[in-house]
Amino acid sequence: MKFIDTHAHLNFKDYDKDRDDVIKTAFKNGVKYIINIGTDLKTSQESILLSQKYDKIFAAVGWHPHDAKTFEENELLKMLEFKKVVAVGEIGLDYYRNLSPKNIQKAVFEQQIQIAINKKLPIIVHDRNAHNDVLSILKKYQPEKVVFHCFSGDYIFAQEIIENGWFISFTGNITYKRGEYYSIIKDIPQDRFFVETDAPFLTPKPFRGKRNRSEYVRYIIETIAEIKQQTPNEIAEITTQNSEKFFSITKKLD
Ligand SMILES: [Zn+2]
Repeated sequence: MKFIDTHAHLNFKDYDKDRDDVIKTAFKNGVKYIINIGTDLKTSQESILLSQKYDKIFAAVGWHPHDAKTFEENELLKMLEFKKVVAVGEIGLDYYRNLSPKNIQKAVFEQQIQIAINKKLPIIVHDRNAHNDVLSILKKYQPEKVVFHCFSGDYIFAQEIIENGWFISFTGNITYKRGEYYSIIKDIPQDRFFVETDAPFLTPKPFRGKRNRSEYVRYIIETIAEIKQQTPNEIAEITTQNSEKFFSITKKLD
């Protein structure tokens, strides 16, 4: 079984002691590609460095809502020139922690959406307790490729995302709250979802509580397979195809 971890933060300090080993182990255990995600200038640059060091790692660059107050448009534009940058992200709104003021979060989210549209790049959305504002901003600009990473909404919100032509990425939290996500997963069309760890966070069962690793995507795939009554292999194939297409990965390889 081969699969893609579409959202990891392997540059974080949690991996300082054994990063190379963690990455090599992932690729030996089913992981085909990893997309490493930035959350501000420093972590976006670190994501690019990882993508330069490893053939099978790609980068997303952007300012997370927590870091919206440090946004530098010029720096974002510079980073988007690197070949293995496959998306703008993670960007969005976070009204749970409100580490940047709401008005700044919104303005920086909108700026980054416009840049992604200009550069024809997909957008990775972080949305925490901000469903309505995230949706209304996205509807205003109508970007073509959007994924809601670590989806945390309800069934109706999931339907809205699908109706707009967008995508949902499932994380380890579906293995803790299976009931809550059951009907969303059961009904999501085959071509609209993929999978991610959000490592080092949100480690799936049976490793919940430990540091996350990209190969643990397997447990998220198994949970989806059970709910959709398909084989894990089928879900691995579908999610691999969906994410390769969404992030135009094959184009970034040649
Ligand atoms: Zn993340």
